Amino acid sequence: MDYLSELYTRLRAAAPGMELRQNEPMSRHVTFKVGGPAALMALPKTVGEAGLALRTAAELGIEPFFLGNGSNLLVADEGYPGFVVRLAGEFDQVREVNRRLWAGGGVLLSRLANAALDRGLTGLEFASGIPGSVGGAVTMNAGAYSGELCQVVESVTVMDRQGNVSRMSNAACDFAYRHSAFEDGKRLILSARFALQPGDRAEIKAKMDDLNARRKEKQPLEWPSAGSTFKRPQGHFAAALIDQCGLKGLRVGGAQVSEKHAGFIVNAGGATCADILALMEEIRQRVFQATGVALEPEVRLLR
Ligand SMILES: Cc1cc2nc3c(=O)[nH]c(=O)nc-3n(C[C@H](O)[C@H](O)[C@H](O)COP(=O)(O)OP(=O)(O)OC[C@H]3O[C@@H](n4cnc5c(N)ncnc54)[C@H](O)[C@@H]3O)c2cc1C
Repeated sequence: MDYLSELYTRLRAAAPGMELRQNEPMSRHVTFKVGGPAALMALPKTVGEAGLALRTAAELGIEPFFLGNGSNLLVADEGYPGFVVRLAGEFDQVREVNRRLWAGGGVLLSRLANAALDRGLTGLEFASGIPGSVGGAVTMNAGAYSGELCQVVESVTVMDRQGNVSRMSNAACDFAYRHSAFEDGKRLILSARFALQPGDRAEIKAKMDDLNARRKEKQPLEWPSAGSTFKRPQGHFAAALIDQCGLKGLRVGGAQVSEKHAGFIVNAGGATCADILALMEEIRQRVFQATGVALEPEVRLLR
């Protein structure tokens, strides 16, 4: 029996209530809607189940991949021959504790921003249109319209691969532009606490509506994508460079540089991961030749 089958058997026996999926199509879990199956996926609903999944995997020498909402992720067409963990159940809750918002790692930012709005708390308006989960957004230090997760995260509760839980302060998270200490994939983000300020509900709502309208106007939200394909290079904007090189509309198979926003590659129908990677490479080469700027992918690749 291989290690993953052994992991499946052990988890099935030890936690019959935990959802486990074998050969789970990853195209269902990423906003690009591409990618082959993950060999094994666990969807723990509690800290106990998450601990069991990670500890058992560690005993078998298996390193799990932590999946959020898949909105910054590409998965190889051949799939991922490993173990994926995606938070469910209690990790999808938002609570208020001493005027701090606490959110599980699986909560979507849109829900979190709405929970802040309901309570008249300001600070998360910028995040309401980012289609990530708390875990993915903290990992990426996601940001928009001059806001970044690092400005509002007070602390993050994590689980290491042995199942030990600890809390990390904002300073310990090593936040920088689209970077955090969690990028090495060694800790599962269970939850985060957010420090927000009391604000006026109508003003918070108006700001969220305005930012979301701007997003809708500028971004190809009607097509599957993973948002901005490349990071912002120092002193430049990736979209402007790509546009300047005349690459809007450029296609490889079903992957296309969006006509609406050159920073986005969209799945214009039937794209494969290979199409998207080939288009990314073509863009990188053409932009480098024309401008001397080396674009760096923001989107993560799981293979
Ligand atoms: C239409 C569109 C618009 C977007 N706009 C923006 C934007 O304005 N600003 C911006 O910054 N991004 C944007 N993005 C990209 C994306 O939404 C963000 O990067 C988001 O933070 C990713 O979160 P996720 O939950 O989808 O993470 P995933 O894509 O699932 O994963 C991203 C990384 O986080 C890790 N991760 C996920 N969950 C956990 C966890 N619980 N514990 C540990 N590690 C974890 C993964 O292993 C991976 O390395 C956009 C994407 C789309 C599709």
